Amino acid sequence: MHLYSLTLFVTEDCNFNCTYCYQKKRKSYIKTSTIEKAFDFLFSFLTNKCFINFYGGEPLLAFEQIGYAVDLIQNKNKKEKKQIQYTITTNGSLLNDNVLEFFNQHQFSLLLSFDGTLQDITRKKGSFQYIVPLIEKILKYPSIDLEVNSIITPAKIGYLANSIQFVVELGVPSIIFTPCRISSWDHKSLIRWEEELRTLRAFISTYYKRNREIPLANFRRNRRKGIFSCYAGKDRMTLMPDGKLWGCYLIADCFKENEESREHAKYCFGNLDEFIKNQKRIYPEILSNYSELSMDHFYSRDNLCTQCDELNECVVCPMSNILSGSDIKTVPPWICEQNKILIKEKRLFWKEIEEEE
Ligand code: SF4
Ligand code: SF4
Repeated sequence: MHLYSLTLFVTEDCNFNCTYCYQKKRKSYIKTSTIEKAFDFLFSFLTNKCFINFYGGEPLLAFEQIGYAVDLIQNKNKKEKKQIQYTITTNGSLLNDNVLEFFNQHQFSLLLSFDGTLQDITRKKGSFQYIVPLIEKILKYPSIDLEVNSIITPAKIGYLANSIQFVVELGVPSIIFTPCRISSWDHKSLIRWEEELRTLRAFISTYYKRNREIPLANFRRNRRKGIFSCYAGKDRMTLMPDGKLWGCYLIADCFKENEESREHAKYCFGNLDEFIKNQKRIYPEILSNYSELSMDHFYSRDNLCTQCDELNECVVCPMSNILSGSDIKTVPPWICEQNKILIKEKRLFWKEIEEEE
């Protein structure tokens, strides 16, 4: 077992109620004793360069546990000196000076969930006013690496380009937009998706010529080569507040509720005590289920993805399939269509850049 990434799902509680959120919120918080037990066992499996991620719910509701985990890891790392990068995904509502100082001290990567000009409609009314000056403040901390994630719904797709341009103009160095998966995208919204991506391509292209930077992660070149495979369980794990280990926080979120389900049995590595005792048996057994989650096992519209020309460029998280009401390996037609449009626009963007250079 080699862990490049370990996520602590520190709480299932959240102080927002975003319109597209699929999470079942509970007042569950990870115990410090669970964190301690996890790192006593898992620290030696972390690769020399690795990520420790804090996720929720709203993880800053469990700031005490985050502080505890960071102290513990720093102490454990005194001898081994692994290159550990901390990351957190947050709605930003609890980011005060104290928290930002702490993130700056420990050189956190901060993924801020912020929907730009749609924030007050899709996330929390009134939060836009708070987040905009907050972004300006975060950008002044030299050791915090800021990225914004914006979710876009089919109903609001017509605002995407405008909203993303607004976030870029705030000076955010990296932005990613993610189409909402819990509502299906009809033909009309897919046409609008294409128009918005075209507008964004023109905007990013002008931006690149001026600054030699691509703030939109969706348009950057893929670092991986070949067919996309979900890394859950393979090089990453998530520890849930109840002490259970899963391959990825998204998979845990989707299947944790129903302990009797087939999926729970397939994808949960069990609780920490059980895993520590029987790791040599449990790990390969569960990992073999995760190994099927690669795109050469996926279908869309009754065709195997392996028959598609875009296979090497296409990325589908298997949990998007589940969230959109599909089977884990079946890509709904509208996700397939969205990906084809994105791949096309990205290709046109790079063609233009290469021709100019
Ligand atoms: S592809 Fe999806 S399920 Fe797999 S590791 Fe990435 S986010 Fe998790
Ligand atoms: S574009 Fe569609 S068919 Fe092609 S690889 Fe992606 S999901 Fe599969």
